[in-house]
Amino acid sequence: MHRIVIVGGGAGGLELATRLGDRLGKLERAQVTLVDRWPAHVWKPLLHEVATGSLDTSTHQITYAAHAHWHHFGFVQGEMTGLNRSNREVSVAAVLDNDGTEITPARNIPYDTLVLALGSRTHFFGVPGAQEHAITLDTLEQAELLRKRLLQACLKKRSFTGDVKDEAVNVAIIGAGATGVELAAGLRRMEDTFRQFGLLSSENGHEMRISLLEAGARVLPALPEKVSAATHGSLTDLGISISVSDPVNCVTANAVETKSGHLVPADVTIWAAGIKAPDVLASLDGLATNRINQLKVLKTLQSETDENIFALGDCASCAWTDSRMVPPRAQAAHQQAMFLFKALIARIGGRAPGSFSYKDYGSLISLGSATAVGSLSGRARSGNIFVQGLVARLMYAALYRKHLIAVSGLRQMAIAAIAHGLRRFATPRVKLH
Ligand SMILES: Cc1cc2nc3c(=O)[nH]c(=O)nc-3n(C[C@H](O)[C@H](O)[C@H](O)COP(=O)(O)OP(=O)(O)OC[C@H]3O[C@@H](n4cnc5c(N)ncnc54)[C@H](O)[C@@H]3O)c2cc1C
Repeated sequence: MHRIVIVGGGAGGLELATRLGDRLGKLERAQVTLVDRWPAHVWKPLLHEVATGSLDTSTHQITYAAHAHWHHFGFVQGEMTGLNRSNREVSVAAVLDNDGTEITPARNIPYDTLVLALGSRTHFFGVPGAQEHAITLDTLEQAELLRKRLLQACLKKRSFTGDVKDEAVNVAIIGAGATGVELAAGLRRMEDTFRQFGLLSSENGHEMRISLLEAGARVLPALPEKVSAATHGSLTDLGISISVSDPVNCVTANAVETKSGHLVPADVTIWAAGIKAPDVLASLDGLATNRINQLKVLKTLQSETDENIFALGDCASCAWTDSRMVPPRAQAAHQQAMFLFKALIARIGGRAPGSFSYKDYGSLISLGSATAVGSLSGRARSGNIFVQGLVARLMYAALYRKHLIAVSGLRQMAIAAIAHGLRRFATPRVKLH
């Protein structure tokens, strides 16, 4: 049987493994194996909601082992550390427990077709102190860490004796792209819930002072100006202080300094500016990569160097137009997974895989539980459609539902949606422990 190995069970990789398992694995036309360093999947665009406590991940995770069983593919837990192209083998590191004891040994996994879907992580651009002092939102662990740090910062600054004044909690978010903006808006909701349950006092200015720092000329620099202006207005209404055109110079344990010399106090600093693909890609047996470690791929999503290796999602550098590359977004990973599903079936059947073309459906930015803003691509020449408010928020929520349908099916998505809806009646709006 043809062996297809997919490394990375994120937005694109899990969808591809599921579709291929249901189609090829079930009929034993190919052996499909998914490798991921974690035992369970969380859709990455949810991480800012995890960080602000509005989403409890225990009910939003998909366990790979069970999912693999139901969808006729194999799952191997472990971090990919290397590649041997002549033997066609992927090296996967041993899995260790918290004490360093080995749970599963290091292994080499053979493939006929390899798909790399390793996603991306934060790019600190060499800014001094950023990696040491700022929290990022690359993984579930980091999102949980951020939530706990925010909770602790609020409790630390609260006076429980009454003879000392409560102090404000300073939060600095570096990068006013989608992640930074959504996080800033989500923090206000978190603050309201903290106050409601007594974790922030309602007196003495005990509040979150949120600063959003952007190097570009406006918030959401990659989105249309109208979306950027509407977002700027909404964030200002939420009391968020915004600084633009002033890159960050350095980050210390309790402040962020910008190029212009502005010192922003920070009890908690979050880095949400820029991405790069995992470093391991740059050292993979001669595969061509770009300066941010993305694998250079052709329109077929095949590596420029090796026709047996494909890449999708954030870790792939794929041309969109003559001057632009496909952006690192969940919708791109989804479209590429759909494309590769058909292309790999064609490849196994001895047909040409075709060529991928990206369609941008626009972007939606959540600005709280009841509002969002965005621009959707209209038909052909009619241009982009600006959307705002509750309708935009409902469309935003539908994106996650779409992902769940793609990986788990309509019935599972409906059950999950009802279960989450019911839980809301019995739990605080924000996770408090
Ligand atoms: C907070 C946040 C909000 C976002 N919001 C949006 C949004 O609203 N809309 C949108 O379109 N995009 C959004 N994005 C971007 C979107 O999440 C990514 O573009 C998308 O997840 C990329 O999918 P992927 O499959 O390439 O990688 P990922 O979904 O990141 O998955 C990569 C997988 O690879 C695994 N992995 C990594 N390295 C290894 C290794 N060495 N060995 C084994 N496994 C490995 C990881 O564990 C992970 O499961 C957001 C991102 C963040 C961080």
